[in-house]
Amino acid sequence: MKITLLGTGTPAPSLKRQSSGYLIEVGNDLIVMDHGPGAHHRLIESGHRAVDVSQAFISHLHYDHCMDYARLVLQRWDMGADRIPDLKVYGPTPIARMTELLFGEEGVYGPDIRARIEHESSIFVFEERGGYPPRKSPAPRVKEVHAGDVVEGNGWQVTVGNASHVQPQLECLAFRLDSPEGSLCYSGDSGGVCDEIIELARGCDMLIHMNHYLSGTEPTTSYRKACGNHRDNAEIARRAGVKTLVLTHVLAQIDQPGIREQIMREIQQEFDGQVIWGEDLMQLTLAENGLATIEDP
Ligand SMILES: [Zn+2]
Repeated sequence: MKITLLGTGTPAPSLKRQSSGYLIEVGNDLIVMDHGPGAHHRLIESGHRAVDVSQAFISHLHYDHCMDYARLVLQRWDMGADRIPDLKVYGPTPIARMTELLFGEEGVYGPDIRARIEHESSIFVFEERGGYPPRKSPAPRVKEVHAGDVVEGNGWQVTVGNASHVQPQLECLAFRLDSPEGSLCYSGDSGGVCDEIIELARGCDMLIHMNHYLSGTEPTTSYRKACGNHRDNAEIARRAGVKTLVLTHVLAQIDQPGIREQIMREIQQEFDGQVIWGEDLMQLTLAENGLATIEDP
């Protein structure tokens, strides 16, 4: 199993770190987990295309986790020219409604889609790409999922759990993927020491966890419960018994020499596994022993 970090940043604009996105190559599938702004650009930089992606899992509907969802669907539809299967999409309510509001007849992209289906010049391009008119509208196969659900793939399965983030305004999910090639848990956005994340991640080879800020600098208690920090993450990784902890969703304020080393050192005082400071386009390959090998971009 190979994991590529597409976006390890936050909602804050950054050229170094795009917003949340992860790419998982497992079996014959190419899965994205979250697709925030910039993540799709990173997908292309990683050598992949929208048409290669088979499944998308969205953890929650904060825009920094789903803004490139529209780009993924539209570029996949455009380049796919009706020759590839529809994208399978899994995420919390109301992702089905969001999808309809984006790509439905009355949706945001409805006029664009209609023009590409009906205009002669667009039909020509569609045929050049191997399509046979009449062209279909984009129709991602959306399934809303909730904690406890299991999605069965071809040689892998994803178990859905709850994160601790901005409920009840948004349903916030975490995902665990198990396969013969290894296992990983992605926290989505989650803060505090979340027992549900610990249970979901139990025994995983890899935990990819939001590490937004330096412990002790949280402005409020509710901020700490919503956004991950390094000391809470160390406890989660230790109690879950994972082999590797990948830190992501990193604010610029902690992404600097000195602070980064302090965070890594303090995590390693509590958690004796492997700790990785995530970077955009970092590739992580799970070995037979479950440990991750890093290929830097
Ligand atoms: Zn969020």
